[in-house]
Order: sequence, then structure tokens, then C-alpha cells
Amino acid sequence: MTAARLPAIFTTAADLLCHADLGRVRRCAHPACVLYFLDGTKNGTRRWCDMRTCGNRVNAAAYYRRHRAGDAPASRSSPPEPGA
Ligand SMILES: [Zn+2]
Repeated sequence: MTAARLPAIFTTAADLLCHADLGRVRRCAHPACVLYFLDGTKNGTRRWCDMRTCGNRVNAAAYYRRHRAGDAPASRSSPPEPGA
């Protein structure tokens, strides 16, 4: 980051603090991320600062944990039996 970009960052932060609904400011759910974001979703359930970076990493790690060799339960790969 260059010093030339700092005024723009301060202006954006001041605009956020003065005009945004602060109840919609959330911290990214990625454990190693320090970023906050303004949740603009209709239902207020956004979790990541950026889905392509933090969201994808957490989802990929969860997918890996669920599908490790020998750990995947057999019942998750097949639909339930009718009438069961
Ligand atoms: Zn993040």
C-alpha cells in the first residue's frame, strides 16, 4: 500500500462510520483474517470479506475434513431409503 492511497482509505472509513448501519459491520469469519466488511445482504448472513479468498479457503478446508480418506460416512453418499 502506498501513502498516496491513505487519504482514500480514511475518506472511505469516515464515510462508513458516518453513514452506514454499524450493526451491519462484521468481522470476517476466516480465523486468520483481520478484515471487517459491511454486510449488504438482504438477510444479513454474509460471513467472509471476500468469498474468492477467505470463504473459499474455509469451505475447501471443511470439504477436505469431510472427505478425508476413510472418514466419509457411507450414509452421506447415498439418498435415504424410501419409507425409512
Ligand atoms: Zn477475510
